[in-house]
Amino acid sequence: MTTPLTEDFLRAIPKTDLHVHLDGSLRIATLIELARAQQVVLPSTSEAGLAALVFKDQYANLVDYLQGFQYTVAVMQTPEALERVAYEFAWDNFNEGVRYFEVRFAPQLHVNSKQNIEDVLAAVQRGLQRAKGEFNQRADVVAGSAPPAECGIIACAMRAIFPGMSEHYDQFLNLHRFTRAKRVFALASLEMVQALIYARDELGIPVVGIDIAGPEDGYPPDDHAEAFELAHRHFFMKTVHAGEAYGPESIFQAITLLHADRIGHGYYLFAADKIQDMSVTDAEAYVRNLAQYIANRRITIEVCLTSNVQTNPHIGDIRKHAFARMLDERLSTTLCTDNRTVSKTSMTRELALACTSFGLTPAAVRDIIIYGFKRSFFPGTYKEKRVYVRRIIDYYDQLMTQFMPAPARG
Ligand SMILES: [Zn+2]
Repeated sequence: MTTPLTEDFLRAIPKTDLHVHLDGSLRIATLIELARAQQVVLPSTSEAGLAALVFKDQYANLVDYLQGFQYTVAVMQTPEALERVAYEFAWDNFNEGVRYFEVRFAPQLHVNSKQNIEDVLAAVQRGLQRAKGEFNQRADVVAGSAPPAECGIIACAMRAIFPGMSEHYDQFLNLHRFTRAKRVFALASLEMVQALIYARDELGIPVVGIDIAGPEDGYPPDDHAEAFELAHRHFFMKTVHAGEAYGPESIFQAITLLHADRIGHGYYLFAADKIQDMSVTDAEAYVRNLAQYIANRRITIEVCLTSNVQTNPHIGDIRKHAFARMLDERLSTTLCTDNRTVSKTSMTRELALACTSFGLTPAAVRDIIIYGFKRSFFPGTYKEKRVYVRRIIDYYDQLMTQFMPAPARG
């Protein structure tokens, strides 16, 4: 029997993307155009050249994977460029059926002598708002027969900052020459959270959550506990990149020290052999208990299949990805792209990949999709969120009836 989960169906259904980096998702044509206008030098000026050299199908490791960001961030240093990139990003999502996304970026990577942190956030918001406004003028949305698009912003703090990352970070490092590095990282995160409070509460920018990104190994989350505590006290939701390049205890720290509501990647959740905490005597039991703790708390794991295989080439076959065990343990998971351009993927593609690699049934796909909406950091009230999720479920079920004969829906 052929699967009822056709690409047409996967494209049509309303989807979320809760883990996607703006600076990893630029259209390559836009990158080339902006670089030309701003005199930013790229390793190639053609789409094919950049696809061969920078935005590849496969990468050697995380460092290789991250190469492209220096170019994308370099062209996103003006309000006009940020607005354009955000606008195009939103449309790329809407055009493949992503109805709700939370786009993330590190605002401090875009701060320079011409734009401050609130300018950066406002420029991205303008782009998103314009695209959303246009999409929501669609006849079926206006008529109420299809749910509108919604979105939020997640701001990333960086686990560590190094010279050359951005004009702002260079200044920050210079101003704190006599402060030890870890304290400087902590202060940068704290400064960002204070700016987010202002941007959300005074400017009305829908910053729904904070995240921490950057190298995991050697840069533990406790450096940023103060910033996350402040965000927590101001009711920001929290997601943390953890278990992407480091062991399970990194995930535990994200939940306990940084109050993470969701975990980015969590790939090494079951990797008992990666535990470095000497106080753990039974590694297998630790991993089992951690998984149960996450399952019970309904902490959602943002699974990025393509990205994980690209940054951890040793996984080899996607079927060996920890997602199989996450499903088996009934963890709350949502599929995400991580980076549309750097990973050369889309939500439709990630879903198709999950369906073929893990034999997902239509009912399992429905569960995963609805979890995405339910576990989102929706920018409205809880009542509004419930109404929105209900509309999504009704619309989804209507599409299922339309695309699949009844026996195929189970
Ligand atoms: Zn990520």
